[in-house]
Amino acid sequence: MLSERAKKIKPSPTLAIDSKAKAMKASGIDVISFGVGEPDFDTPDHIKEAAYKAMKEGFTKYTAVGGIDPLKDAIIDKLQKDNGLVYTREEIIVSCGAKHSLYNVAQALYGPGDEVIIPAPYWVSYPDQVLLNDATPVFVKTFESDSFMVRPEVLEASITKRTKALILNSPSNPTGFTYDRKTLEKLAEMAVRHNFFVVSDEIYEKLVYDGTEHISIASLGDEIKKRTIVINGLSKSHAMTGWRIGYAAGPSGIIKAMMNIQSQSTSNPASISQKAAVEALRGPQDFMAGMHREFDHRRRYLVDELNTIDGMSCMMPTGAFYAFPKTAKLYGRKAGDKTISSSSDLALHLLEEAKVAVVHGAAFGDDDYIRLSYATSLDDIKRGVGRIREAVGKLEV
Ligand code: PMP
Ligand code: GLU
Repeated sequence: MLSERAKKIKPSPTLAIDSKAKAMKASGIDVISFGVGEPDFDTPDHIKEAAYKAMKEGFTKYTAVGGIDPLKDAIIDKLQKDNGLVYTREEIIVSCGAKHSLYNVAQALYGPGDEVIIPAPYWVSYPDQVLLNDATPVFVKTFESDSFMVRPEVLEASITKRTKALILNSPSNPTGFTYDRKTLEKLAEMAVRHNFFVVSDEIYEKLVYDGTEHISIASLGDEIKKRTIVINGLSKSHAMTGWRIGYAAGPSGIIKAMMNIQSQSTSNPASISQKAAVEALRGPQDFMAGMHREFDHRRRYLVDELNTIDGMSCMMPTGAFYAFPKTAKLYGRKAGDKTISSSSDLALHLLEEAKVAVVHGAAFGDDDYIRLSYATSLDDIKRGVGRIREAVGKLEV
C-alpha cells in the first residue's frame, strides 16, 4: 500500500526518544531527559508581544509564500552583519523551521542518481531527507581527534561525478564541534573545483564557546557563495522551536525552485510567527547573553562530570548544546543476564534502569558514542549524571 519512498525512511529518532521520555513522565515516572535538543528557556516576552500584536491587528491571513518582505529584510541584515554575506530578497526563503528549509533544498536539488555527502556523525534528518528524494547518502567518517571535522583528503576520495552536494553542520549536532577556517577553505576549494553544492546548516551559530568563531563557508569567496545554500533559523538562537521559523539563503534559481515547492506543499510559514521573527531579529538581543552563559556553565559541568565516569570519555565541545561522550569501552559489560553491546543497548539500559533519556550514537551514524543535550536545568544535569554514574558503576565487567 505504501510508496517505496515511505518505506525507505524511519521516524526522527531524537523526536521518538523525546516522545518516549515525555510519555514516561506523564505516567508519573521521574525521567530526566538529556534527549531532545530544544532550549529549555522560554521565548522572550518582547517576541511574544509582537505575536499578540499581529493577532490583534488581524495579521492572520496567508502571506507571500516565501515570507513577508520585512522578515526577509531582517534576515538579509542579519546575514550581512553576522556573517558578512550580501543577499537580495530573491535569494531568501522563509520556511516552517530549518528542517523544512533543509527539506525544500533536498526537493529542489537531489534526485535519482545523485549522491549527497554527509559527514558522520550527522544530524538525524539529513540521510532520510536524501532518501525521501530518491538520492543516495554517502557517509564520510570523521574522527574525534580532528574535532569531528571531515578530513579534506577523505572527502576528496568520496567525490564522484554523481556528487551533488555536501551537507555541513557547524556547530554540529550531535558532536558539539565547530569547523575552523582552514578546513572550511579546503572544503570550499574542493566544492568549487568539483562543482558541487554545499548545504551549510548554521542553526547553532549563536552557541559557540571559549572564543570560538563561527564561520559561514559561504563567506569564503564569490565562487563558493554561488554553490552554497545557508540554512538557519530562530529555534535555537531565540528559543523559538514551536514557532517554526527557519530560512535559507542561496542562489536565486534554487530559492525560486524551493518557493515553488513550498507553494505546492505548506504555503507560507505562520503569519503570526513571521511577525514574531521580525521582532526576534530586530529587537533587543540581550537575553541571548544570559542563555549563552547558562549553556556554557552547564557544558563545562556536564563534560567534566562525564569524564569522571568509569568507561566514558568526552572532549570539551566548542558549540551547540550537546555532549558526545565515547562509550564504546562500556560495551561488553553486563547488567544481570543482559550484555550492553551497543549505544542503543546503553541508551535503553539508562532509560529503564536510571530513568535517564539520552540518544544512542547509532542514530547519528556512530555507535561508539551517546549524545546528551544539556538544554535542561543544571539541577537536572546534576541529578541525571549522578544516576548515570550509579547505573554504569553497577555494570559488571
Ligand atoms: N538542523 C539541526 C542540526 C538541528 O539540530 C535542528 C534541530 N531540530 C534543525 C536543523 C531543525 O530546527 P528547526 O526545524 O526547529 O528550525
Ligand atoms: N534538533 C533537535 C535534536 O536533534 C530536535 C529534534 C529533531 O528535530 O529531530 O534533538
